[in-house]
Parts: sequence; structure tokens; C-alpha cells
Amino acid sequence: MSIVKKRRITRQITIGSVKIGGGAPVAVQSMTNTYTQDVASTAFQIQKLSKAGCEIIRVAIPDMEAARAVKKIKKQIDIPLIADIHFDHRLAIAAAENGADALRINPGNIGAESKVKKVVQCAKNNGISIRIGVNSGSLEKDIELEFGNGSEAMAKSAQRNIELVRGMDFHDIKLSVKASDVSRTVEAYRLVSSQTDLPLHVGVTEAGGLIAGISKSALGIGMILAEGIGDTIRVSLTRDPGEEIRTAWEILRALEIRKRGVEIISCPTCGRCRIDLFNIAEKVENALLEYTTPVKIAIMGCVVNGPGEAKEADIGIAGGDGIGILFKKGKFVKKVPQDQLIDVLLEEVKKYTMSRRELNGEKG
Ligand code: SF4
Repeated sequence: MSIVKKRRITRQITIGSVKIGGGAPVAVQSMTNTYTQDVASTAFQIQKLSKAGCEIIRVAIPDMEAARAVKKIKKQIDIPLIADIHFDHRLAIAAAENGADALRINPGNIGAESKVKKVVQCAKNNGISIRIGVNSGSLEKDIELEFGNGSEAMAKSAQRNIELVRGMDFHDIKLSVKASDVSRTVEAYRLVSSQTDLPLHVGVTEAGGLIAGISKSALGIGMILAEGIGDTIRVSLTRDPGEEIRTAWEILRALEIRKRGVEIISCPTCGRCRIDLFNIAEKVENALLEYTTPVKIAIMGCVVNGPGEAKEADIGIAGGDGIGILFKKGKFVKKVPQDQLIDVLLEEVKKYTMSRRELNGEKG
């Protein structure tokens, strides 16, 4: 039985070709870390992220050159692009006019209401949606003075800005209420999800480097998703955005919300292990990053416990002394010289995924 509560149904919006909310699959997004003005590098990074499973990409728009670059980048990518704007509402307008599929603004730092209204009118004219991105670190001064910077303050800021935008008869909005710690983030999402039917973009902001960031994101995003809250997620790491995509999919897979690509079960190794399992696991993981068909594989340190401990894997290998074994669903298939273990496993995974795709009538 799933530990995830029934998904809360929100209003549906679309970002380019991707539906958000209203029962649509939880979409995975990330943000580029190239200079947006550098069209070639940005488009290349987006193409790479898209192959790894990124479904929506956000780019920073720090100046007019970046806003104008959106048009050229869009021609080279096949996933929707969100323009991320801070401080200057004119950049939001320029990005929208250059073809952004959605805007992300933080109303707390856009300034006067009249400026927010100009952005909303522009989104309306271009038929695109807006994310109201409330961050605990950049709340409106008056809200911070009265409520501090906890979940209640974030919800107040969200409420105020939703009212402002909806007051302009604009409803293609999604909302985020992020803090850099798990407690405030989870509390804030619980609060806003009880107050609004808007689709929610979930993430823990500025979560940190690889280990801290993954831990905080898995806990924060995981807890929120497990409560049935959240329509799209972004893992935020001080790393290559490719790691964000991998982490996002691992979170969705661990909660059995969505499946994609290769799931690897591997043992931590112990005194029985006679092969370089860390290296093998990493090589296999990297070689299979762009596989999309769900398949579970096991990479185990020894034959004593390996196959038995990984019975649920579709395909697996277990190390020995100079020689390892290949097994499928826990059953022995053949012995393989140690230096051929990776190649044999990769070949088997390729065959397996091809047969699954044929079975499902997929092309390519
Ligand atoms: Fe140790 Fe073998 Fe278990 Fe790995 S599979 S932890 S090497 S006993």
C-alpha cells in the first residue's frame, strides 16, 4: 500500500506543452546555471537536462540581453522555458515578448503594485502563466515586521499577491512558498494548500551542496508530496543541474509517484566484497542516465548474499574473486569474468529495455 496520500486536486494550468495541477503527473523542473545571454551554452545545457528527464526549464533573466536571448534559446529546445525575474518588471515583459512559456516573479521584490500589474497584463496578452514565488528570505517589509519570516508570513505574502493578481482577472498562476529549511517549508506548503486551489511548485530553496541539499530536498519535498501536496518539483542543489534532475526522479520513484529509467539497487559492500563495487556502480549509473524505460538493476558485492538480497531486480550482477555472476529476478544466468561484468550488464539492460519498449509498442 502506498504511503502517499491521495493527490490534492488543484486548478490546472499549462506551461508550454506541460500541464501542471488538476491531476497531471508531478512535473520535474530545474534551472540552468549558464549565462542566459550565452545562447549556445544555455541551449546545450537544456538539451542535456531534457534528455535526463527535465520537463520544464527555468532560466535567469538578469538583464535585457538575457531577455532577448530567450527567443534564440527557445528555437533550440523542446521543453517549456520559464523566465525567472527579480526586481525589474521590464525584464519580465521583455522575456514574455521574446517567447517565454511562463514567468516566475517574486512580488516581494518587484516593487510597486503598478509594476506587478504591468507584468500580469503582459502575461495575459501573451497567454502565459505566472509563478508567484514567495521566499522566506525576501518577504515584503510590512509582512516581515508583523509576522516574521515563518510559514504564516509566507502564506500571508502568498495570499496578498494572489489577491492582487486574481483581482486583475488573471488565474493562470502557480505558487511556491520556499524556505531554506525543511520545517518552515513543509509548514508553509501545508498552510497554503489549505487556503488555495492553485497548483503548487514545491522545493526547498538554497538547500545546499550535494549531501545536505539532497537530504533536505528529499525530506522536505518528500514529506509534502507524501501528504498529497505538490504539482511540480524543483530540487535545488549547489551542483550541476543534472544532479537536481536525478534527485527529483529518485524522490518521485521512492514515493512511487512516477517511474522513469533505471533504478539501481547496490549493496554498501562489506568484508566479503572482492571487486571495486563503488567504481562499477558509478560507471553503470552514468552509462544508463538517459534510459527512460523503467528497469530495476542490482549491483551486489558478492555471490553469497547478492542475488538473494536483490530478488526484485530485473537484472543484476554479483562480484566474486576474479569472476562474477549475472542473475535475473534472483536466478543465476551465467558466470562472467570480472573485467566483463559492466559490459555484460549494460548489454542485458539494453536488451531488456528494448523488449519492454516493443511490448509497449514504443518506437525508437
Ligand atoms: Fe557484503 Fe555481499 Fe551483502 Fe555486499 S552483498 S554487503 S558484499 S554480503
